[in-house]
Amino acid sequence: MSDAADTATALAPYAAHDERSRGRRYPEPPPQYRTEFQRDRDRIVHSNAFRRLVYKTQVFVNHEGDLFRTRITHSLEVAQIARSIARALRLNEALTEAICLAHDLGHTPFGHAGQDALNECMRDYGGFEHNLQSLRVVDELEERYADFPGLNLTFECREGILKHCSLKNARELGELGERFIHRRQPGLEAQLANLADEIAYNNHDVDDGLRAGLIEIRDLYDVRLFRRQYDVVREKHPGIGERRLVHEVIRRMINFLVVDLVRTTQANLDEVRPSSIDEVRALSKPLVAFSEPVLEEHRELKQFLRERVYRHYKVLRMTSKARRLLKELFEALFEDVNLMPPEHRDAALRAEAQHGEKGRARAVADYIAGMTDRYAILEHRRLFDPAERM
Ligand code: MG
Repeated sequence: MSDAADTATALAPYAAHDERSRGRRYPEPPPQYRTEFQRDRDRIVHSNAFRRLVYKTQVFVNHEGDLFRTRITHSLEVAQIARSIARALRLNEALTEAICLAHDLGHTPFGHAGQDALNECMRDYGGFEHNLQSLRVVDELEERYADFPGLNLTFECREGILKHCSLKNARELGELGERFIHRRQPGLEAQLANLADEIAYNNHDVDDGLRAGLIEIRDLYDVRLFRRQYDVVREKHPGIGERRLVHEVIRRMINFLVVDLVRTTQANLDEVRPSSIDEVRALSKPLVAFSEPVLEEHRELKQFLRERVYRHYKVLRMTSKARRLLKELFEALFEDVNLMPPEHRDAALRAEAQHGEKGRARAVADYIAGMTDRYAILEHRRLFDPAERM
């Protein structure tokens, strides 16, 4: 590209470039009017798992109120934040978006309570990690294409979806698992999606926590990230109503974090000067990062949320109900796979024939992990309440 405007928006050498992608598991002809990574994103948006995110809990269970985040609005906020940063750093925006939209596809119903419950149920059968499940969804569980299982996404997108993974699982994942064994990095788009996830949930959980009445503004005054922006808004807009005050503070917090992330990452890039995505991957530390002081403040906010929101007795009551419900579902279905709808029963029987009990357990976990909150509640009633219709 020759003129200055094009150069300013062109992909940086360290970004993921379409033509240098490590490709798909099942080779396909290139798309006609889209880039490879746009095609990844489009496949994710068209998947069943993506649509189910509408009815899956982030922190507050879906039926608790219409304004709380669900997994889908969370994923959209992550994508939104990450795309802006990707453009600022001249990274691949379409790939960044694809990773963000797919990052939570493997989440169980009822948020982290559901994941912990399923992990306990699967203890003797290889465990359950929602992150690994996201990869399983796009690699195997989606049934949409005649020529291959799953969505057949690019290596770069799958690398971004798998943000953490135990060493034991990494050894079974082939080239995708290698970086966990050798302590290497994923591409910058994946690193970015990871931190955009944190920016999104830490900020929207403040908003949702306030809305739910679990915390109050004066509690947040001890949190430096919040207090700094709060004081500015109070000073600039005395007499502002509480709703607007909260939103104005949160949008400024997001912006503060984004600006710090862009500046710090750009400085890291200027120092290390990687000339390709493979040079980025070979580094021992990620380049996308917050500055030390902001990282510290971000941790303080996380800690506040953990103590005041995620461990609030009202949230804990919901999560303990959810945990019991998923365990009971698992036990009943694992005991007798004939209780599952035929396609899931058949998958369980096939898996059992191949891998024994471990296979049966995995198929039951796949079925449960795919459920939305409300479907899990209904399915539990159908299995345990004699008065409920089938
Ligand atoms: Mg997330």
